[in-house]
Amino acid sequence: MLVKSSTELVRQQNSALVLASLRRHGPLAHTDISHHTGLASATVSAITTELEKAEVLERREQQAAASRGRPRVIFGQRRGAGYLVTVRISSDLVQYSLADYGGTLTDRFEEARNQADSSTRPFAEAFVAALDRLADRSRIGREEVLVVSISSKGLVDPASARLLWSPVFGAEQVDFAALLQPRWRAKILLSNETLLVAHAMALRMEKAGVENLHAVAALSLGHSIGLGIARFDRGGDLSVTAPNFGHMLNSSDGKLCRCGSQGCIEASAGFYGILRTAFEVPPDTIPAKFVPLAEMDKIALRARQGHRMSEYAFRQAGLALGQGLSRMVSLYENMPIAITGPGTRYFDLIRRGLEEGLGQSQQVRLLGAPPITVVPEEATLVLEGHLDRALSEMDHDIITARTGAE
Ligand SMILES: [Zn+2]
Repeated sequence: MLVKSSTELVRQQNSALVLASLRRHGPLAHTDISHHTGLASATVSAITTELEKAEVLERREQQAAASRGRPRVIFGQRRGAGYLVTVRISSDLVQYSLADYGGTLTDRFEEARNQADSSTRPFAEAFVAALDRLADRSRIGREEVLVVSISSKGLVDPASARLLWSPVFGAEQVDFAALLQPRWRAKILLSNETLLVAHAMALRMEKAGVENLHAVAALSLGHSIGLGIARFDRGGDLSVTAPNFGHMLNSSDGKLCRCGSQGCIEASAGFYGILRTAFEVPPDTIPAKFVPLAEMDKIALRARQGHRMSEYAFRQAGLALGQGLSRMVSLYENMPIAITGPGTRYFDLIRRGLEEGLGQSQQVRLLGAPPITVVPEEATLVLEGHLDRALSEMDHDIITARTGAE
C-alpha cells in the first residue's frame, strides 16, 4: 500500500510539473515539455496520454514555419476542462469575469456599488445574482465553475474565505463560502487585492528577465493604501503576502484613520488624508467615506500651480509612504517596488516626500533606494494575479481529483 501511494504521489507531482510548464510557456511539443520539466520522454508520454484521456489536455497540430513537413503536435489545456470566475470588489464597483481552463477571458461585466451603503446584505444579494448571470450568459453549468477567486482591499482570512475588514464594508464581515454553498461547488479563493498585484508584477518581472530577482513589492495608492510582497523561494516558487501596511502605525501625529486608529500611513497618504491636510481640516476629523477623483484632481492642480497647503498635503503623503517603505526594506531586503492605483496620477507630487522618507533610514543610506516603477493600470495586474493563482489551484485540484481517483 505504501509503495503504491508513493508511486501515486510521484505521478501526481510529475503531472503537476507538466501542467505548470504549460502555464508558464503556453502549448508545447512533447520534446519541449521534457526539456522544461526535466522529465524523461517516456514519463512525459505517459502523463500527456493520461491527461488527454482525462480531457484535461488536448493535442493540436501546428504547421512548422517555412516547412512543408509534417505538422508538429503540441499539447495545451483543453479550454472547456473547467471555468473560473474572478470578482474584484472596489469602492465604487464590482467587476465579474469568467475565464476558461486555458486562461482565456470569455465574459465580463461590472456593477456599480452604492457608495453610501456600506451594509453587506445588498452586496451579498447582488453578488449571488451576478454569479448566476455569468454562468447563464455563457451557458455553462454551475458545477463546471471550479474556482471563484475574489479580491478586495483590506484584511482577509484566506483559509475561511472571510473578508474581515475592508474599506468598503468596514468591520462588517462577509462569509463568501456561506453565500455560495450549497449551489456552487467551486473552491473559493479570497485575496487581498494588492497581494494579487504583487503576484502579477513578480511574474512580469521574471518574464522580462530581471536579474537577481528575489522579491517584488507592489504599493497601491488611492482612497486606501495597500502593499503586497512577492518572494521567490530557491525553487523559483512564489510566496506572496499582504502585510497591513496602510494601517501600520507611522507617526503619533493624531491623524484619525478610517480604521479608528490614529497615525496610520493611510491617515496621511490615503485620498481622504491628503484632502484633510490640503483643506487644513483638524487631523482628528472623521475621514470622508469616499473622495471622487475629480476632487483629488482639483487639489493636485492647485498643488502644481504652487498652492502651498495642497503641495504640502501631497508631500506629507509621500513622506508617510517613504517612511513606511523604508521600514519594509529594513525588515525584508531591498527589492523593486511597483507603484500602482489611481493615486499614481499624482506621483509627481508625491515623489519628493517619498524619496525623503525612504532616505531617512540607514538601510537606504547605505544600500541605496529600491528601484521604483510606476504601473498605473492596476485592474490589469489584479486580473493577471487572479488568473495565475486560480489556474494553478485548478491544475492542482484537477490532478488530485482525476488522476488520483483511478
Ligand atoms: Zn488605519
